[in-house]
Amino acid sequence: MLLTLYKSALRPLEIKALLKLKIRGNGYAPHTEPLGQLASQLDDKAFCYAALGKVSRSFSAVIQQLPNELKDAVCIFYLVLRALDTIEDDMTLQQDIKQPLLLNFYKHSQDEAFSISGIGDNADYMVLLENYPKVYRTFSNLNNKTKSTIVDITRQMGSGMSEFTDKKIISVDDFDLYCHYVAGLVGIGLTRLFLAFNSLSVTLVDTDAVSNSMGLFLQKTNIIRDYYEDLDADRTFWPKNIWSEYVDKLEDLAKNPKSETSLACLNHMITDTLRHIPDCIEYMRNVKDNKIFRFTAVPQIMAIATLAKLYNNPKVLTDVVKVRKGLAAKLMLYNITLNDLFRYFWKNIRIIEKKNNPGMPYHHETKLMIDQVKNSINHKRYQQ
Ligand code: MG
Repeated sequence: MLLTLYKSALRPLEIKALLKLKIRGNGYAPHTEPLGQLASQLDDKAFCYAALGKVSRSFSAVIQQLPNELKDAVCIFYLVLRALDTIEDDMTLQQDIKQPLLLNFYKHSQDEAFSISGIGDNADYMVLLENYPKVYRTFSNLNNKTKSTIVDITRQMGSGMSEFTDKKIISVDDFDLYCHYVAGLVGIGLTRLFLAFNSLSVTLVDTDAVSNSMGLFLQKTNIIRDYYEDLDADRTFWPKNIWSEYVDKLEDLAKNPKSETSLACLNHMITDTLRHIPDCIEYMRNVKDNKIFRFTAVPQIMAIATLAKLYNNPKVLTDVVKVRKGLAAKLMLYNITLNDLFRYFWKNIRIIEKKNNPGMPYHHETKLMIDQVKNSINHKRYQQ
């Protein structure tokens, strides 16, 4: 907390927001007891929200601010997918156990007896899987449309994760497909939950494709940010067809982080991520419900702020670079309008544009992409 306050020191609104969230709790400051202990004290639904506070960290606050019925749906959707991801991420699990678990996980949403012990590289994730019957029972109280969405998305994601357990991410198409399975489907599922709650809340022509881009934009940003952490954990999601244009081995980027080649590779990855922004803007223009707007806007704004910080930044290749938590807190407390969202996107795109100097490798491609993003915002006030 102290360090977070320090980082926000020059931004009084952010400090006010951080303290307010800390005082109000609001799901942002989770229970202090370990989740394992809470499991025996709380009823099913209270356990689900406690688990959400423990495992989703920064975004549990924004989930809390959704209308009640939708909040429960999103909370359970998140926990089911978190449980599935825990299985995917456990590198100690043998393939003959992991594969059927990933493929059949959606069926466990209809099985009250399902629970697993000893899976997960984090104590909270492990407790979540051990107490899965509590998630099941809370799930079973949701409306039918919501339940079928959660089951369908879990089935598709589990099957996609299973496909990628022994498939490497080589082409940009592989990268898009992997990100579709683990994040695009979340965007598609959330939109279905919004529409089940209010059929007029989001009005898009190509709903699934645009919702998919929302997930890809966030996931790719995290994958770029986590380069070093993932390298350390001996896993990688950067597509080989991009990095092999610059280095022989992906880890070479970390050995020479300030070289023009390493930075060009990083900037190439970021430019590939910017490609999804026009769809994100299209999505946000068509969200008709204020609370849903805020819920979807906060992660998008955090992602563009992160990309602006990561662009041409050698630290990404040797350390973990994160955006100030104060920004997230501020965004969660104040009503964000479509204009605010445009302003944040514009400001951060300009930061990238100013760092994209002529003469840098990959300069031209990034410039073209920045122009596309600016056109998608297409707002008089931001065109000067
Ligand atoms: Mg995973």
